[in-house]
Amino acid sequence: HEEGSLAGLPPLRVLLAEDNEVNQRFALRVLQRGGHTAVVAANGRLALEALAREPFDLVLMDVQMPEMGGFEATEAIRAREAAEGGHVPVIALTAHAMKGDRERCLQAGMDGYVSKPIREQELALAISQV
Ligand code: MN
Repeated sequence: HEEGSLAGLPPLRVLLAEDNEVNQRFALRVLQRGGHTAVVAANGRLALEALAREPFDLVLMDVQMPEMGGFEATEAIRAREAAEGGHVPVIALTAHAMKGDRERCLQAGMDGYVSKPIREQELALAISQV
């Protein structure tokens, strides 16, 4: 077991909700190098569609996305789970480590929080905590 490494985790099916292509490519590379598979959704609405279509072990949710942002999408996920059961862990990806962000993420039903730019060690720690 490698501490603080994505390769130290069991292989996960990850839904990556992120609108920025550079961040998408970087996160995909980090996840795949760690032995995980990922599906990309470019906004919150597409993330909800993907979750309705197939199961995921984890959602990495960018907060700021067009059409539907991460807070709104997570609230919709939790509302659906309240009716249908289940709980998929959601880790927020935030551009700025702003004061109050963590509270806002938890309030929206997110389980964890990673600030961008994404660092493997920080992401691995957040995943292992959920
Ligand atoms: Mn964004």
